[in-house]
Amino acid sequence: MHLETDEDAWVDDDPRPLRTVFLRDDSQSILVANEADDLSFDYGLNPYRGCEHGCAYCYARTYHEYLGFSAGLDFESKIVVKPDAPALLERALANGSYKPGTISLSGVTDCYQPIERKLMLTRACLEVLARFRNPVVVITKNALVCRDLDHLAELARHQAVAVYLSVTTMDPDHCRPTDLARRALSLEFTRP
Ligand code: SF4
Repeated sequence: MHLETDEDAWVDDDPRPLRTVFLRDDSQSILVANEADDLSFDYGLNPYRGCEHGCAYCYARTYHEYLGFSAGLDFESKIVVKPDAPALLERALANGSYKPGTISLSGVTDCYQPIERKLMLTRACLEVLARFRNPVVVITKNALVCRDLDHLAELARHQAVAVYLSVTTMDPDHCRPTDLARRALSLEFTRP
């Protein structure tokens, strides 16, 4: 047996400061076609890569390694930002060759992670989607999604939106599915 240190590990009393760095991504396209039969959407749209929420179990961590970053601390502290996402989305939807389909926001990030409050890229993408009446599925665990109820409501008028919220809790009473379902329903009708 031997002990191997993990260079990427970080503990509460670690003297190294953990600061989030934001890096610009100048991608020239924004929609990724979904080729997996078991996923019920046609395109993925990620205005960011990496996620400051930093859930330990996140399956998206490994995708950060494609960028040359670690799936550990880098995933939650080196956030790639796509400032052109709304414009690229509009260009894609307006293109005559675009085959309409359901877009998933997001697959390898939480589109409502903290920096979205300031940059509003997800909000701008929703505005484009609402204008084009293009169906969208939003997956998040951040209440910031409620900020964009105006665009979501417009999409809902055309039955073109679904929002999935995951609720994290350490309270075993709140983990019971019946309780969660009840809370999810009350959240649906509550605007902070
Ligand atoms: S919020 Fe979602 S994307 Fe972000 S770290 Fe957690 S599971 Fe991953």
